Amino acid sequence: MMSTLQIVVIHPELLGTYGDIGNARVLAHRARVRGIPAEIIFTPHNQPLPTTGDIYLLGGGEDRAQIASVEALRSSLGVLGGALDRGAQLFAVCAGLQIIGESFPGVSGEIIAGLGLVPIVSLPGSDRIVGEVLVKSDLFTEPLTGFENHRGRTDLGGLSPLGRVLVGGGNGGEAIAINERVDGLVAGNILATYLHGPALARNPVLADHLLSRVVGALPKVPEGEEIAELLALERRRALGAANFGK
Ligand code: GLN
Repeated sequence: MMSTLQIVVIHPELLGTYGDIGNARVLAHRARVRGIPAEIIFTPHNQPLPTTGDIYLLGGGEDRAQIASVEALRSSLGVLGGALDRGAQLFAVCAGLQIIGESFPGVSGEIIAGLGLVPIVSLPGSDRIVGEVLVKSDLFTEPLTGFENHRGRTDLGGLSPLGRVLVGGGNGGEAIAINERVDGLVAGNILATYLHGPALARNPVLADHLLSRVVGALPKVPEGEEIAELLALERRRALGAANFGK
């Protein structure tokens, strides 16, 4: 009997603005349909992070909630670092992506120290980037889709992005030429993106990629579950993915 996969949602009451909590539900569902028991552990900001998680999730949030979250996480930094060292995965979305870096902008553009898990820096943009996003990652054949809503712009400082932006702003926004624009990052056991949607509901291949980082190769989803892939296809088509050779 395989041990229960523990999916930890970090501060759902602060970092759940755009439904990113759905990422946990998708992971648990796609594990269970393969016979892998999974539980979701919701950890509010006034509780310590569990030490035994397999996948830790950080979602998006407004500036004040993001700051409250990072302040609460400072005391759990050892837990998160230790979890990553023992092979747990961290998936971070938008505010979550900014939180794990060196710093990000506060409500009035002031610099807030991040957790420093990755050497990236986020700065305020001149406006918010709001809209649909299409990202081509070398990890997957088809582009990923999602939507974004953020003011921060993130400099990866040499780390590898999750993928190239085909439509939308991603890490850099309009200040970066579209052919050089990237989204998210992949660094060791950390995968991050600006994509909401929730990202894993929109992109089942990304959910399966995260799961397989923990449990190894996954069997195909059973019959009847292809609906998720059909939805993803519909989203890609709606974003004109065909125009980009996919
Ligand atoms: N508050 C951050 C920003 O505006 C993150 C927003 C979000 O998570 N969607 O850049």
